[in-house]
Amino acid sequence: AKQEGRNDYRLFSHNMNRQQHQLLAMETALRYAVESGEGLSVHYQPQVDRATRTLAGAEALARWHHPDFGPVSPAEFIPLAERAGLMVPLGLTLLHQVAAQQRRWLDRGLMPVPVSVNLSAQQFWQHNLLVQFRLLLAEHRLPAGLIGIELTESVLLDKQQQAIPLLYGLRELGCTIAIDDFGTGYSSLSYLQDLPVNSLKIDRSFIQRLGESRSSNAILAAVAGLARELEFKVVAEGVETEAQMQALGRYPVDLVQGYLTGRPLPAEDFARHWLSRVRC
Ligand code: C2E
Ligand code: CA
Ligand code: CA
Ligand code: CA
Repeated sequence: AKQEGRNDYRLFSHNMNRQQHQLLAMETALRYAVESGEGLSVHYQPQVDRATRTLAGAEALARWHHPDFGPVSPAEFIPLAERAGLMVPLGLTLLHQVAAQQRRWLDRGLMPVPVSVNLSAQQFWQHNLLVQFRLLLAEHRLPAGLIGIELTESVLLDKQQQAIPLLYGLRELGCTIAIDDFGTGYSSLSYLQDLPVNSLKIDRSFIQRLGESRSSNAILAAVAGLARELEFKVVAEGVETEAQMQALGRYPVDLVQGYLTGRPLPAEDFARHWLSRVRC
């Protein structure tokens, strides 16, 4: 038994080493990708009006394709970038990709819609965030209202007071602000009334349980009702089925984002499927 135990331990430590090696290799590759921009891109997922299903906006979602690792999920490389201290340059690269894309769409005579980018805590709490956004919009000559941000409750955590002037600053630049994954954080609801926020995105977990239980319906009704009272737009995330779409009709939900209405697409496909020409 003692012998086996030792073998188990050796096996375990061998695996740990391999995992650590893999992680380190991936970190090195990500560092290179961030510096060169190679393999990093943005997909765009439509947000549609619930009632008419017409396009109202899009969310920018980071994609990383590495020649050896293949496509790496953001659920994997975003946390890796955070641990490796790469989130700030990565976020900036993605922001510029989105702004440049919006500029190209404008130049091609396409009618652009607001695109929101996810900001992680490291990005949001940089000392020069507002300067960066001002420069970004100026460099790409973007009219106000075409770039928005999404923040999770955990980014704000117990720093809502410090966040208020920043959020007002972003709003003055014409950025829309959404609270992401709403309902999954530890937030007390009361902080919401002080924040200059445009929309609440109700987390997919609530949508998925819709119709299954009375309690999840009650939660959705309460959250959507509160958001409406506070004059936020309500976005339902992760709508996958027609049944969920039907059920949402009973709640004050403005916009829908999910596989049912549209998957995240590369820029070209998104433009082809979703963007219309400006009438002249
Ligand atoms: P998120 O911000 O909540 O983004 C929505 C995620 O749900 C996306 O996953 C999207 O592809 C997925 N999704 C959309 N509709 C459906 C649906 O109907 N069903 C299901 N099952 N999933 C749906 P993705 O692209 O893998 O991104 C995962 C997370 O990674 C994002 O969650 C966000 O937290 C983070 N992320 C992605 N891009 C960025 C970025 O540029 N910066 C930062 N900081 N985080 C990012
Ligand atoms: Ca998001
Ligand atoms: Ca979300
Ligand atoms: Ca999420």
